[in-house]
Amino acid sequence: MAPSQFENELTVQAHTEAGTMDEFHAAYEAAVEDVRVELGDTHPLWINGEAVETDETFTVKNPGDADQIVGEFAAGDETNVDAAVAAASTAFDEWKAISIEERTAIFRDAADLIADRKYEVAAMMAFENGKNRNEAMAEVDEAIDFLRYYSHELEKNDGYGGDIREPTPGQRCVSDLQPYGVFGIVAPFNFPFAILVGMTTGALITGNTAVVKPASTTPLVAHTFFDILQEAGLPDGVANLVTGGGRDVGQPMMEHEDVTGFAFTGSRRVGLKIQETFDELDKRGPVIAELGGKNPVIVSDKADISKAVSGVKYGAFSFSGQKCSATSRVYVHEDVAEEFTEQLIEETKALAVGQPETQETVVSPLIDEGAIERYDEICESAAADGTVECGGSRVERSDLPEGRYVEPTVVTGLSHDHALATDEHFLPFVTIHPVSDLDEAITKSNDSDYALCAGLFTEDDAEVDAWFDRIEAGMCYVNREQSATTGALVEAQPFGGWKYSGTTGKFAGGPWYLQQFMRQQTRTVVG
Ligand code: NAD
Repeated sequence: MAPSQFENELTVQAHTEAGTMDEFHAAYEAAVEDVRVELGDTHPLWINGEAVETDETFTVKNPGDADQIVGEFAAGDETNVDAAVAAASTAFDEWKAISIEERTAIFRDAADLIADRKYEVAAMMAFENGKNRNEAMAEVDEAIDFLRYYSHELEKNDGYGGDIREPTPGQRCVSDLQPYGVFGIVAPFNFPFAILVGMTTGALITGNTAVVKPASTTPLVAHTFFDILQEAGLPDGVANLVTGGGRDVGQPMMEHEDVTGFAFTGSRRVGLKIQETFDELDKRGPVIAELGGKNPVIVSDKADISKAVSGVKYGAFSFSGQKCSATSRVYVHEDVAEEFTEQLIEETKALAVGQPETQETVVSPLIDEGAIERYDEICESAAADGTVECGGSRVERSDLPEGRYVEPTVVTGLSHDHALATDEHFLPFVTIHPVSDLDEAITKSNDSDYALCAGLFTEDDAEVDAWFDRIEAGMCYVNREQSATTGALVEAQPFGGWKYSGTTGKFAGGPWYLQQFMRQQTRTVVG
């Protein structure tokens, strides 16, 4: 098969370069109005290609507007999980046997169908998880990229099939990669489309079948992906969608004896629980888990301070810090600490907090009541043990609907090992720590259970080399003004973490991702 080419989708950048931002904004705003009138429907489960109603449903509300109902969703339970796993098990033999060309054709079609509806999907995220327009569009592009890139990788590697070898006369051997069976897929709320699409595609395109559970705050875009998979011709039962709570749906999925592998993105707590469950039940399949972060940034005395301020500001506060990759602690050289902190405070105060669909918004609402309560608690603790330099309060403005809006918050005066500087909070909250040199900054950056993303600001190449030599993180960014630690492009920047930030060390959107969904078999025939 001729190797295909892969190119990133990059909508926002394409519009910026072509000078057509007005068209981009108009298309997005029209999609927001179209989606707004569609909200409020009731959505079933999808099992074996059929809609399944449940006795109980749960309501999803717009985090940025307490009065707006996004939809009612079927609340799945163990019985539904059993039915979904049974459908996936039955579909497995036929699905694994179809040709690579047929399989990738489905996922390439799905990518094209998403591309046709990209503004609509981005608009859904504004209502469902409060993601602002540029970030939501980038997320949809990333989902398209996953579908096309994994298709490309599968074709490039000829489906991971092996060549026939004859090491001695009369002996024929072949070794290839094969799917495991049924995968459980559990996705987080903060990238409810791209991550769900990426993990599901990884499992399915390699010949597995799947039961998929989105976060209970973000089932709408998952439904859209399932509609698209059906339209693209995915056979019934190959992917099954069970919406509902972590304990009601996620737990029985991981415990089900016919679920042989798991792909999870979410918190360390739940990721480790899945791993422990697999170990306890002596399941031999893989747990591919992408977990949390506590991402450090170093600002050297040789840094361009404006660049560093910009990178930290966007890294820490875009999408209200609700990213595994969000900048959350800054080690700044003591000689430039005052200048850096003052500028950061000034620019943070100027950041636009608002509704996600509003063009200027950078800091959008928090996802749920738990998040806003945690925000109150950590700000109180920061004020008690350190100094809240800016932020620290909920935002209640007459021009905003009642929602979960909070101020981006900069804190100084906390020790490096204070819980606020070691635990992941997933909120718009960053701590600043002066250090005496690069060595201390790197040592403190690495003194964490997490090792997902890290950033450095310096104009000195020797410092860059020293940092690359020692920094413990999956994703390492130098002088990134648009965001110190967040944002990765499929293929160019495969995404993942070390230590408690991930379980396998193989990254999404990279060349070794798909192999994790497969196991090797070597077959030898004599005579
Ligand atoms: P979460 O762990 O609370 O939930 C993730 C998923 O797990 C949801 O679908 C949830 O319903 C489900 N779940 C919850 N309890 C469960 C249980 N007992 N059994 C099975 N499933 C259960 O995470 P979240 O709040 O949705 O997302 C935020 C977390 O995700 C952060 O820790 C963030 O760092 C991490 N994250 C990591 C990456 C990455 O690539 N490393 C990307 C995005 C998010």
